[in-house]
Amino acid sequence: MSRALTGITPSGRLHLGNLVGAMRPIVAAQEVGSGPDDTIAFISDLHALTLDHDPAKVRERTFEFVTLLLAVGVDPGRAVLMVQSHVREHVELHYLLECAAGFGEAQRMIQFRQKSRGRDHVRLSLLTYPVLMAADILLYGAAEVPVGDDQRQHVELARTVAERFNARYGEVFIVPKAVHPPVAARLGDLARPARKMSKTAPPGAGVLHLLDTPDVLRRTIARAVTDSAGTVAYDPVGRPGVSNLLAVLAVCSGSTPERLVGEYTRYGDLKRATADAVIATLAPVQARYAELAADPGHVREVLRDGAARASAIAAPTVRAAREAIGLLAA
Ligand code: ATP
Ligand code: MG
Repeated sequence: MSRALTGITPSGRLHLGNLVGAMRPIVAAQEVGSGPDDTIAFISDLHALTLDHDPAKVRERTFEFVTLLLAVGVDPGRAVLMVQSHVREHVELHYLLECAAGFGEAQRMIQFRQKSRGRDHVRLSLLTYPVLMAADILLYGAAEVPVGDDQRQHVELARTVAERFNARYGEVFIVPKAVHPPVAARLGDLARPARKMSKTAPPGAGVLHLLDTPDVLRRTIARAVTDSAGTVAYDPVGRPGVSNLLAVLAVCSGSTPERLVGEYTRYGDLKRATADAVIATLAPVQARYAELAADPGHVREVLRDGAARASAIAAPTVRAAREAIGLLAA
């Protein structure tokens, strides 16, 4: 059995990059998964508390992200959809793993060093966040964890901690491995095309949010940075702006940049076609989102069911870990 596990942190606002890089793959996984518990998607709200945060916003975004996942087609009948903090096993295993992880190991994490740099108050949870992520993974026995480069080191840590725990206390965990599936597309920020589109980009960035109105989407695309060459070409390194527009158009029209490149000669035409395709892609998602948002009771019900199913999978692993490490059964 191979389980597909995806966590999305409720910081910032979901965008087209998240749709193609994280949300569509969840929908794809639930189609091929052999059982309804083989695809697990969760909103990692605990991870959102590791940096400065606004409590009301975290709560609001958690609900918004769940609703958006449902709107893009995550089906609670074929996948487990839940909120990390609703499943107590995450924090419980986090503590047990802290007793098998080293301070030096956590301190060496590149993301910790980057995110703590220049801050006078660094939350302890930022240091231990990769250990919580290890718990997220180990609880569900995921053997392969698909991650981008930025998370590779964290999966390595999960692996090290699992191996150490197993060696000291007995075989409790499946040791995970990071895998790097080919990404559908890494979409760039339209205003700074060499950088990737990001949930937490500053205002004025070229990010296409899933809940932006058609007007805002069209304006963001119209303002996209291109270059002065004046020809449409696909060359992500040399011509990042134009190439990124082609990539955006491709993911919204089921095509590839290579196939699209010959169809346009002028930037204006390419931008218009891209805006039309993005708006057409997001219109049904936004319509479904509006329906779901009008029925918060239903979304709540999905989350209650998701948390119960996740907990049923995770609980035996936590029980085994508690026993192995020396805790007296309650
Ligand atoms: P943040 O600024 O908070 O890091 P983010 O947009 O990078 O925001 P993550 O929570 O880091 O979001 O990533 C969530 C998922 O979305 C990951 O699976 C990641 O690979 C995918 N993803 C994020 N940005 C892009 C992008 N620009 N293009 C394609 N996939 C993306
Ligand atoms: Mg990121």
